Amino acid sequence: MKSKAIFFDRDGVINERILEGYVRSWDEFHFLPDVGETLKEIKDRGYIAIIITNQRGVGLGLMTEIDLADIHKKMQSQLQEKYGVQFDDIISCTDTGNESGRRKPSPAMLLEAQTKYDIDMGLSWMIGDTASDIQAGKNAGTKTAFLLNEHDSPPPDATISIASLKEIIVYL
Ligand SMILES: [Mg+2]
Repeated sequence: MKSKAIFFDRDGVINERILEGYVRSWDEFHFLPDVGETLKEIKDRGYIAIIITNQRGVGLGLMTEIDLADIHKKMQSQLQEKYGVQFDDIISCTDTGNESGRRKPSPAMLLEAQTKYDIDMGLSWMIGDTASDIQAGKNAGTKTAFLLNEHDSPPPDATISIASLKEIIVYL
């Protein structure tokens, strides 16, 4: 049987987004509300949980791959410690531009995950806080959830808009 997944954007969904900047170290990583509880619930419901994130700060030389890996390692261990769950995978694109075709809104990272975990995209969701995330999900054939925020308007073509991350549970 194919699996089903929830793909999460990172900045602005899992942790506070730094406008016009990058989360370069664990000190700058601040969880948003409901992440651990929501992750636990979706895992209990049999979904694979995968972060799909553009991290251009690495490509720009503002931080290193090691910095990025360190942030993700600490994020995972804190989730494990407090909630007993982790993301199943974290797929990042550190390109500065779209030349390689991997950066969202390209569906490339979602399709990499689809192949790796044999995911039925029609049963899966992409959750994001920008139009680019929603477009990536649409391009990959997932349902899409836009997390309402003060910086970006809801794209008209998202499947749903949600005011908080945990609201996704209602739609699963
Ligand atoms: Mg974001």
